[in-house]
Formats: sequence, C-alpha cells, structure tokens
Amino acid sequence: MLSSGLNKILLGALALATAASCTLWSPSSDTACKAIDLALPHGRVNYPDSPTYAQENNYWSIRQTDNIAPACFVAPKDAFEVAATVKVLASLNTQFSVKGGGHTAFAGGSNSDGGVTIDLMYLTTLNVSSDRKTVSIGAGNRWINVSEALDTLGLVVVGGRVADVGVSGLILGGGLSYFSGMYGWACDNVRNYEIVLASGQIVNASPTKNEDLYWALRGGGGSNFGIVTRFDVAAYEQPGGNIWHNSLIIPGAANASAISAYQNLTVNGMPADNKAHSYMVLTHMDMLGGYAVISDLFHADLPNTADSAHESVPGVFEPFESLPTIMKTKSIVNVSTVSREIDVPYGSRQTWWDTTVKATDPSLLIDIVPLWQDHVEKLLAVAKGSAVTPFLAYQAIPLNVLKAMEANGGNALGLKQSDGPLMLIQLTAQWADSALDDLMERSSEEVIGKINDLAKSRGLSHGFVYANYAGNRQSVFESYGADNHAKLKQVALKWDPEGILRKLWRGYFKL
Ligand SMILES: Cc1cc2nc3c(=O)[nH]c(=O)nc-3n(C[C@H](O)[C@H](O)[C@H](O)COP(=O)(O)OP(=O)(O)OC[C@H]3O[C@@H](n4cnc5c(N)ncnc54)[C@H](O)[C@@H]3O)c2cc1C
Repeated sequence: MLSSGLNKILLGALALATAASCTLWSPSSDTACKAIDLALPHGRVNYPDSPTYAQENNYWSIRQTDNIAPACFVAPKDAFEVAATVKVLASLNTQFSVKGGGHTAFAGGSNSDGGVTIDLMYLTTLNVSSDRKTVSIGAGNRWINVSEALDTLGLVVVGGRVADVGVSGLILGGGLSYFSGMYGWACDNVRNYEIVLASGQIVNASPTKNEDLYWALRGGGGSNFGIVTRFDVAAYEQPGGNIWHNSLIIPGAANASAISAYQNLTVNGMPADNKAHSYMVLTHMDMLGGYAVISDLFHADLPNTADSAHESVPGVFEPFESLPTIMKTKSIVNVSTVSREIDVPYGSRQTWWDTTVKATDPSLLIDIVPLWQDHVEKLLAVAKGSAVTPFLAYQAIPLNVLKAMEANGGNALGLKQSDGPLMLIQLTAQWADSALDDLMERSSEEVIGKINDLAKSRGLSHGFVYANYAGNRQSVFESYGADNHAKLKQVALKWDPEGILRKLWRGYFKL
C-alpha cells in the first residue's frame, strides 16, 4: 500500500508534469528513488554514497558496473514491497532493471544506468513442503543457498549447476541442470510462479491458474511479464544430494576424438541413460599448454561399493576412458560441493553468445573448431599479452531432454523432439582490457554467423538461441519460432496492456 507521503510525491510530480509545457517531461530517477523511499520501510533504498549501494553494484561481469550507476538500488523484502516499487516506477515513468543473481554478462543486463535497479537480494525464503515434493524458493536466492539446504535433506531440484548464479534469471530463461536428462530444464519443473505484474498486482501462474502466463514464463524470460517473487519447484529424492562426477582435461590436439565421444554421448548415450549429464568446453590457457578440452561427466546414480566408488565408471561414460588426458578427477560429491568447485569468479569482463545446431553429425562439431580457433588467434594477437581466456562450449540437448520438456503442456522455447538431438554451442570469453570490448563482441557475433552458415550448408542448422547464454544483439525470442514468438507477444499484451514493462524495463531481451 502506498503511504500518504508517497501520494504527495506522486501528486507533486504530476503537478510539475502538468505545469511543464514540454510533453516529454518525466520526473527524474531521483524523484522515483525518494518516492519509493517514502513508500517502503526505512533502509530499502540505497544511494551512491552508501556502503550497501557499493555491495549491490557488484556483478559477476565487470561490464555490468563499469561506468554504470543506478540513481539508487531498491531492495524490497517481500512481494508487497516489490509491488509498491513497481507502482511508483510506473506512475513516474522511470526506467528500471531487476537484479536476481546479477550473472548476465553484458552491460545493462540487470543493472540500470541512471535508472532504478531493484535488487531481489532479500527475497531469500526457502521452504520444503511437508510431502517433500515441492520447494518454494524466494527469487533472490543463489543456487548455493538452495543446494546447501537440500543436500542435508537428501533432496534435489532441477536448478543451476554453479553456486553463485541467481535462481531467478536461470529459471526464467530455461535452466540446464545436472538432472535435465530425467526432468528437462529448470523451467519445466516449476509448479507455480508468484509474480508482480506491471500494474503492481500479485498473481500466481501454474498449470491450473493463469495458464497462459505459466506457459510464457517457462522460457519466455521475466522482463516482459513481471517480477517473479517466488518459484515453487518440484523436488526429487537424491540421497545426500550426491552425484558421480568425473572431470577430464584432454589435450587440445585430441579435440576431434573428444568431440566425437561427446556427440555419440548426445545421440546415443544420454537417451539410453537419462541419469547422465555432461558438457564439453574447449579453451586456450597457458597453464594448460595452449588449447585444451575440459569435459565434465555427471551421473545421478551412484556406484554400489564404497571402496571402488571413485574408480567405477557408469557404462554410458566408458568411451571417455580411452581419451588421452592431462588430468582426470573422479569424485562422489553433493550438489553444493560440485557447484562451488566449478564456480567462476567475479572480476573479469565477459561476453556470451550462442546458437544451436543438429547434433547428428560429428564432423560438423569438429569443423566448428577451426572457425573458433581463428577467432581466438585474432583475439590473442590484438590483446598483446593482456589476459584473455576464450571458451567454446558444447552442451547436449538430447532426445530425452526434449521429451521431458513436453511436461505440463510444453514450454515456450520451441524445441521439438522432431528437431533433435541438438547441440547448444556457446561462445564465451573473459578478458581484462576494456579496449577489447568492441572486438570481443564483433568477433563473437561473426563466429556465431559462420557456425550458422556452416550448419546450414550441411542441412544441420537449427538456430535456437538460449537467452541465458545470448549476446545482447541476438534475436532470442524470434528463435523460438514464429508461433511461439507471436503467442508470447499476445500473453505480454494481455498482462501488461499498456506496455509499461516494454517501455521502462530496458536492457534485456524484448519480445
Ligand atoms: C558462472 C555461470 C554459470 C552458469 N551456469 C548455468 C547453468 O548451469 N545452467 C544454465 O542454464 N545457465 C547457467 N548460466 C547462465 C545463467 O542462467 C544466466 O546468466 C542467468 O541469467 C543468471 O541469472 P541471474 O539471476 O544470476 O542473472 P541476472 O543478471 O540477475 O538476471 C537475468 C535477467 O533476468 C531478469 N530477472 C532477474 N530476476 C528476475 C525476477 N525475479 N523476475 C523477472 N526477471 C528477473 C534480470 O532483470 C535480467 O534481465 C550460468 C551463468 C554463469 C555466469
């Protein structure tokens, strides 16, 4: 509920607007910050001179904070406070963004330069239902909060693989998980969303309530529909939260055999054993002697004998045993531990781009490597010794995952079993020197274009762009197919008829 002080501010702002002859007049973000400060309990709004502001203006990718400063951060403590904040922003026509875990790579992805950034950091509720089948997760949680709590209960959810990543952004874009082989992506396992609409109204979306919104939120992202304040997600039994993990580092010269093994795993292995999960990453690092392949293999079923547990290998991963390795680390580990082990530290500039091709022919995946290596050589030459770490990641979307995505009437991503099996190809880099920003973006875009052209020339193109790995110039929702794109637009129009979110929530992918 807006306080009387806030009403005064709003009335004052409106009076000023009426008095101003210029029709483009809009109150400043400072006015909105002050109005929100009056509407919410003390301490929720933080200005640039406060230590809390400095903590909040801390993002995984430096590009989100370099020369970017919101007029204030607002940190609501519950859905009602989120609703009050949205009402003020809408009435004062103020640009804003929302920070979940702040892991978007590009500038402005979840931080609003000169506007208001709503930081969900206090929305950290975490409740397991009495039947252990549902976990209600506040939108400000990081995955480590979730996995640490669930490991002790012997439960898991289909969620993020990396500790510090935000629950919100990952689920809203899709969400690849250790358990995707059995249950699909994270969005396929949401039973209910609590969401604050552009009007400030709080509604729920589930298979039986506001079904169109429920469909749209499963892959349609957040910034077009509202601010999700709670996700009720399916929980699954997993003793101790433990999974089997093998991390291999393979010399770069063996990339063709490593990629062939991964392609075979995608097309044959994973559909035959849906407890298997894996990704394969090519990189160039001096400490690894130049080019190398990092392959992580996960299995939800554990070997029986404790003594040999670390050494035994699930049958589905046997073909990886004959690959030459620089290092091999097998472990049985719970989700919170592995998610910490593979966490990626803050402090670099980052870019992420992606595309999807059909996974049926290993030679396409092998022939992509020289395209990426050309790009890497160019970057290293221009960087002249300043830190640059490039990555090319292959992430399987096998038939069993595509089938699991059909749960609850299917999601909005537009990925069909008949198109599969698919390979998500992700191009990322981290670097230190801001002078390289433009080159990084242009060159990444160029390589993605070349990969798409090569796939097309072999009749193996697909073109799905996963929002959570996408560059800010990529056409994410168009890649879901014309029907899904049109339907998403319709749903957005229904729930935000005045297009408030489209106008004010800038910086991320718009329908
Ligand atoms: C190190 C690392 C590991 C990763 N691992 C995985 C992985 O295992 N699987 C996977 O699928 N992806 C993974 N990703 C990608 C990840 O899913 C995206 O970066 C995701 O956007 C992160 O969510 P966030 O809340 O941290 O990001 P943010 O940057 O805070 O948010 C992303 C977008 O969602 C919006 N948003 C945030 N919260 C809400 C909300 N509650 N309601 C509406 N909109 C909201 C933001 O405004 C922004 O537009 C990883 C990323 C990184 C950097």
